[in-house]
Amino acid sequence: MKHLATLLVFIFIYMQTLQATSLQKVEPAFWWAGMRNPELQILLYGENIASSEVSLSAEDVHLKRIVKPGNTDYLLLYVDLSKSVPQTFDIVLQQGRDRMVVPYELKKRDTGSANRKGFSSGDVLYLIMPDRFANGDTSNDVIKGMYEAKVDREDPSARHGGDIKGINNHLDYISDLGVTAIWLNPIQENDMPGGSYHGYAITDYYQVDRRFGTNEDFCKLVDSAHAKGLKVVMDMIFNHCGSENYLFKDKPSKDWFNYPDNYTQTNFRTATQSDKYASDFEKNLALNGWFAEVMPDFNQRNEDVATYLIQNSIWWIEYSGINGIRQDTYPYADFDGMSRWCKAVMDEYPDFNIVGETWLNNNILVSYWQKDSRLAAPKNSNLPTVMDFPLMEIMNQAFDEETQDWGGGLYRIYDYLTQDIVYANPSNLLTFLDNHDTSRFYRTRESTSNLNRYKQALVFLLTTRGIPQIYYGTEILMAADKANGSDGLLRADFPGGWKGDKHNAFSMTERTARENEAYTYLRKLLQWRKGNNIIAKGTLKHFVPKNGVYVYERKYENKSVVVFLNGTDKQQTLDLSSYKEVLPSITAIDFAGKEVHLDKSLTLKERETLILTF
Ligand code: CA
Repeated sequence: MKHLATLLVFIFIYMQTLQATSLQKVEPAFWWAGMRNPELQILLYGENIASSEVSLSAEDVHLKRIVKPGNTDYLLLYVDLSKSVPQTFDIVLQQGRDRMVVPYELKKRDTGSANRKGFSSGDVLYLIMPDRFANGDTSNDVIKGMYEAKVDREDPSARHGGDIKGINNHLDYISDLGVTAIWLNPIQENDMPGGSYHGYAITDYYQVDRRFGTNEDFCKLVDSAHAKGLKVVMDMIFNHCGSENYLFKDKPSKDWFNYPDNYTQTNFRTATQSDKYASDFEKNLALNGWFAEVMPDFNQRNEDVATYLIQNSIWWIEYSGINGIRQDTYPYADFDGMSRWCKAVMDEYPDFNIVGETWLNNNILVSYWQKDSRLAAPKNSNLPTVMDFPLMEIMNQAFDEETQDWGGGLYRIYDYLTQDIVYANPSNLLTFLDNHDTSRFYRTRESTSNLNRYKQALVFLLTTRGIPQIYYGTEILMAADKANGSDGLLRADFPGGWKGDKHNAFSMTERTARENEAYTYLRKLLQWRKGNNIIAKGTLKHFVPKNGVYVYERKYENKSVVVFLNGTDKQQTLDLSSYKEVLPSITAIDFAGKEVHLDKSLTLKERETLILTF
């Protein structure tokens, strides 16, 4: 009898195992008890799974509804977890006499998870393209069975082998530089035949690309970063996925994608989303056209799709401990769908932060996408932070030109900031000189000889309103011009990130004198800014540029910082009587620790930058 029972149990387990192999995906793979939103969508993907009878083994997990999207390989279970405790329960799928048991874990949340701190104007983000920063593990360079199974550092569009371990190995360097957060270009799986290194064609939303490491490696990176006082911002892409994503190749239903059967290119005219005169034809193409032929466009008006994406971001936050999200191609996606996403994330984590890639040409259009924008009312994007692309364009001109009384040079910056009234929250603007999609601030290596341009730009970036972001390599004057062709060149390898690199810019002794001058200046500035409430929280007051000099004050409580930027190639003497309201004493300490006298006039050398603290 005992033997028979053992045999029956064995047969039973064998049958379960046999059936379970036909189940290819359970997403999310696990979840947590005690989330603010008690509803969970569990996506099951397996051959002919839709014909199963579904039941759950737990009494405190309630199966609310089952969605069969059309493709019989999918089931979407919506469960109510409002009364659930941490546990592993069974999802039981019955097909006639066949029975499949899928254990599903509800984890216990980490203490304080809901209260995690996002990035803010007290932070400086350091943007890293993981494939191009450092190769910490050559054993993952080539993964058998993946489409791009080679590295070629001579080819700007190929994979170069950088990875999570490489970033982890250099966290001390990053933290010592003085930035307080890292933003990584996407690390999710991009198993695509070409261009997979940049990461913007996701083929598995729940998996780190194995060429970067494992999910656990990413969690370890986040933990190590936190231990060094660095926040982590994760890149997400919800507008589109990679065409090799199983959700596209074997769609749950056609309406998971826009133009599901025929690739239709977006026209990139995203101003149509806020343009009151836009034609339906162009608005539709901007929104529903694909970003590229290899990047099919999600239909977020489908509630199941929106929920899938919302849960994916919450899963990564809860699982890995990240502090923020950078959301790609923001105005290409459905306004209401993305608004629902932002609200869901921010409801779950009230101090979190999300920045959307709002690549639009002027402040009016950018401001439309920020939370509480009066221009979008009564709609609300719920997106806390938007990207200040217009300021990037201006900064790339302003420090080269002569500043005039009514235009040019630093006047452009002054003029632009006078229009901040359009923004619902100017301090939640991500500010930057460049990023992975643009020319670097220095177009050529030769032009880096002009370090006054560098110093003025970085002082301005790090002392004006907003949340500054610095692109990796800025500290060592990496130069690149988008006009030279491949975007891969804007994402060059950080020198020293690969074993055997002739030039190791991670090391002070190996950096050139000019690189060290730039590095040292930026490091000092970043270290000074870190924890400095005058910059993080202070008010901003500026003056119309006079004699080509732009003057502004940041003030918090009874402390202030006053910056003088000489935007001309000539020495300038300023009559200080106009600036009395920001000069509380006749002496101040400059950035070098030297005392500066401010009785009647102040003389600034050509392109001089002066930072005074009071
Ligand atoms: Ca590697």
